[in-house]
Amino acid sequence: MNTNIKEYVLMRKQLIRDFVSTLVGKKTPKLVIIQVNNDEASNAYVRGKLKDSKEVNIDCELLKLDESTSEQELLNIIEKYNNDDTCDGLIVQMPLPKHINEEKIKLAVSPKKDVDGFHPLSKLDPCTPKGILNYIKYLGEVIQGKNAVVIGRSNIVGKPMAKILLRESANVTVLHSKTTREDMERYIENADIIVIAIGKKHFLDESFKYKPSAIIIDVGINRIDGTLYGDAKEDLPVRIKTPVPGGVGLLTRLTLLENLIEVYKNGI
Ligand code: NAP
Repeated sequence: MNTNIKEYVLMRKQLIRDFVSTLVGKKTPKLVIIQVNNDEASNAYVRGKLKDSKEVNIDCELLKLDESTSEQELLNIIEKYNNDDTCDGLIVQMPLPKHINEEKIKLAVSPKKDVDGFHPLSKLDPCTPKGILNYIKYLGEVIQGKNAVVIGRSNIVGKPMAKILLRESANVTVLHSKTTREDMERYIENADIIVIAIGKKHFLDESFKYKPSAIIIDVGINRIDGTLYGDAKEDLPVRIKTPVPGGVGLLTRLTLLENLIEVYKNGI
């Protein structure tokens, strides 16, 4: 099995392009991105989403608002797009300025258009864990009955990842900052699938023992002096380790497009 994530993503993007090319005479799927900040990381993420959309021939509109935009103004704009039939998917780029309540904004996006999968009523899983599951399945890995360890318990990665793996009947353990080193070693040593999302450069290193057959999905993105590092070292003695950069970030971006197509199809 070819584990190359770039090639996998290219193959899946081609499927989206093929679908869009069948829509002759119909509305093109459309993603709307609302951005209320101007920080470097958000600009880079938004540029990536615009580029991805262009590559698969879907419409992508960016509404960049001033950082002084009030919470109510943003809610009004979201409401406008919630009721706009030309917009299939709506995302609000995080983080938001401090005077805006992020949770309130996530709840304001209609669950029918929430292609990020952040709304509790959204039928879609969040992009990062969903993209990881699809990739693990593509690799032909058996998940049922396997020991899956998720390190990190954020609402956008760790928790939904654990939920998804449990749905797939893995034996799931979630570790976090309060887990003792001793327990961490014990769970990692017995893990078949490790998903790490904690934001700590090379937290997983040679000081832990691994099953040689283990796979490590490295979600972490740690930018240090302009270089990106994962939460796990690259050359660990395991069967598969997703690279950083060029790993889970690509799966997340792909899944946003796939979620948009799913919403578009169901809305037709
Ligand atoms: P987050 O909200 O930053 O939370 C970090 C989690 O890691 C928390 O649950 C925390 O535990 C846990 N943690 C922190 N230090 C730890 C330690 N020493 N040992 C064990 N657990 C520890 O998490 P996030 O938003 O999921 O982001 C995590 C990383 O993934 C970041 O580097 C982020 O940039 C990256 N990320 C990448 C993508 C992608 O597409 N590649 C997507 C999202 C995030 P407590 O709950 O106990 O505090």
